[in-house]
Amino acid sequence: MEILVLMLLFAVLSGGAASSYGRSGFLWFVLGFFTGPIALLLVLMLGKSGAQRIIEEQRAQEARTTKAASKMKQCPACFGEIDARATICRHCRTPLEPEA
Ligand SMILES: [Zn+2]
Repeated sequence: MEILVLMLLFAVLSGGAASSYGRSGFLWFVLGFFTGPIALLLVLMLGKSGAQRIIEEQRAQEARTTKAASKMKQCPACFGEIDARATICRHCRTPLEPEA
């Protein structure tokens, strides 16, 4: 009887972890029931690597955005640093000609 409780425990843990990672909760519930800690470990590993991929993708996206926004020029009136696409200086409000 105790083994059944353990099997159900791993089933619930695997299913819960899987659904929190956006995976099939029912599938991992069944897998957890029959394979116990193996399914739980597997879903935790899969979930972590998936989350890692998303984080890396977001970092790459941020790097691209920063690169695009980092095109700066100097205001001829106040010599403050401003975006190359700006039509007006954000420091002294001098009208400028945008470069791109
Ligand atoms: Zn200026």
